[in-house]
Amino acid sequence: EATLKQIDRTKSLNAFITVTHDTAREHAKQSDERLSRGESKGELDGIPVAIKDNFCTQGILTSCGSHMLSNFIPPYDATVVSRLRDAGTVMVGKCNLDEFAMGSGTVDSIYGPTQNVWGSDLPYEVAGSTAKHKSVSKKAYSKSQQEDWHIAGGSSGGSAVAVATGACFAALGSDTGGSTRNPAAYCGVVGLKPSYGLVSRHGLIPLVNSLDVPGIIARSVEDVTLILNTIAGPDVNDSTTVKRPYEAISLKDTINTRALRIGIPKEYHCSAMSTEVQDIWKRTASIFEESGATVTEVSLPHTSSSIACYSVLNQCEVASNMARYDGLRFGIRGNETRSTEQLFAETRSKGFNEVVRSRILSGNYFLLKQNYEKYFVKALKVRRLIKEDFDAVWNNNIDLLLTPTTLSQAPRFQEFTQHDNQTQCVTQDYCTQPANMAGIPAITLPISLSQEGLPLSLQLMAPMFKERTLLEAALWLQ
Ligand code: GLN
Repeated sequence: EATLKQIDRTKSLNAFITVTHDTAREHAKQSDERLSRGESKGELDGIPVAIKDNFCTQGILTSCGSHMLSNFIPPYDATVVSRLRDAGTVMVGKCNLDEFAMGSGTVDSIYGPTQNVWGSDLPYEVAGSTAKHKSVSKKAYSKSQQEDWHIAGGSSGGSAVAVATGACFAALGSDTGGSTRNPAAYCGVVGLKPSYGLVSRHGLIPLVNSLDVPGIIARSVEDVTLILNTIAGPDVNDSTTVKRPYEAISLKDTINTRALRIGIPKEYHCSAMSTEVQDIWKRTASIFEESGATVTEVSLPHTSSSIACYSVLNQCEVASNMARYDGLRFGIRGNETRSTEQLFAETRSKGFNEVVRSRILSGNYFLLKQNYEKYFVKALKVRRLIKEDFDAVWNNNIDLLLTPTTLSQAPRFQEFTQHDNQTQCVTQDYCTQPANMAGIPAITLPISLSQEGLPLSLQLMAPMFKERTLLEAALWLQ
C-alpha cells in the first residue's frame, strides 16, 4: 500500500504507463499468507518491483511506449518476469520508455515524457535514494528552471525514476546501447548491464537482438546483485543464453584493492565531457590508487567508430525486427484494404513514430543487395575490432575499466529536445555503447553531485561473465 501511495504521489513524473494495483494487492496478499505460514520464498518475497514496458507481462498491457502496441496484451510472461514472480516479488507496474527503446531521454513515448525527480518540485523525502543529499535544496531552482525540468535519461527512464522515488525496490530496464545505465546515472541510482547471454531475452520485445540485454536498476549494489541472482541463468527459450548453470554471487564486504588493476581508457576523454565529470573521474581514479590499486591509462582505439557502427547495426536489425508489425498479427491495424502492402504501409505509418520509421528506412537501405557489404558487413567487422580492443586490454591483466557513464549531468528537456534522436545518441551513448558491442558487463553508480545538485555517475566495465569482480569493486566504491 505504501508503494502504491508513493507511485500516486509521484505520478506527475510519469514514470509508469500502467500501475497494476489489483494484481499487486493480490500478490502481496499471497505473499503475506506465505510468510504467516512460514513458507517464505526467500529474501525477495513480497518485495515490490517494476518492469519496463517492453517486457511481456501476461494479461497486462505491454505497449513499448508505441501506438503500434497500445492494445497489446501478451499471452505470456518474459522469462525474467516469471523468475521475479517465482521469487515472490510483487510487480507494481510497467514503466515508461522511448518508443521501442529507441532513444536516450524517455522523451519519445506516446504516453508523454518522463521527468527526473532530481530538480523536480517534489519534496526531497519523496526522492527515496536521495535522502543523504538533502543538503541540496530544491530552493536552488527558480520557478522557470523548474518548468524546464531535467530529463530522466533513457530509454529506461520510467524504471530509473520509479527506483529513485522509492516507488519500488528495483526495476528492470533493457540495455542495447546504454538504456539502463544512462537513466540510472541521471537519476542517481545503480544500473547494471549484465554480460550478453547471462540473462534471458525471451519476452523482451527486441530492439537489436545481438546487443539487447535485460538491465537492473536499484538503489544499491547489493540490491542489484539480489535481482541478478534471481533472473540470471540458462533459459531453453533463449538460445543465446549460456548453457552453464548460474552461480549466485554473494558479495564479500571487503575486496583486496591492492590486487586490482584498473584501466582508464584514454579515448573516453572527449571534448563534450563536462569538467565536473572529468573531475569526479580523476578523483575516483585516485581513490582507487590511494587504496593500493594499480591504475593505468589504456587504449581502446576503435572507440570513436562505435557510434557509427552501432547505428548501422541497430537500423539493420530494427528493419528486420519491425517487419513483424504488419497489422495482422500484433497491435493496431490500418483501415486500408486495397492490398496487403497498402495495409502494411498504413499500419506502420500510423503505428510508429518518426524515429522508428526512419530507422526502418535506413536499415532497409543498408541491407539492399548493393549496400549490404558496404554497410552491414563492414559494421560487423568494426564491431569485431571494438571487441578485440577490450580483449587486448583484459589480456594485459587489466581487471576493470573506469569511465564516466554520461558526459554531463541530466540535460534539461528543452536543451535535449533541440537535437534529433540520432544526434542525441551521439552524445548520450558515447561511454556506454562499446560495452554492448563487446557483450561485456558494466555498472553505473552515483559518485557525486554537480554544482546544480544533480547526480554525476561513473561506470565500471569488466571482462565477459566477470560480474562478481565488477559488483565487488562497485560495492567497495559505493
Ligand atoms: N540510444 C540508443 C538507441 O536509441 C540506445 C537505446 C537502448 O539502449 N535501448 O538506440
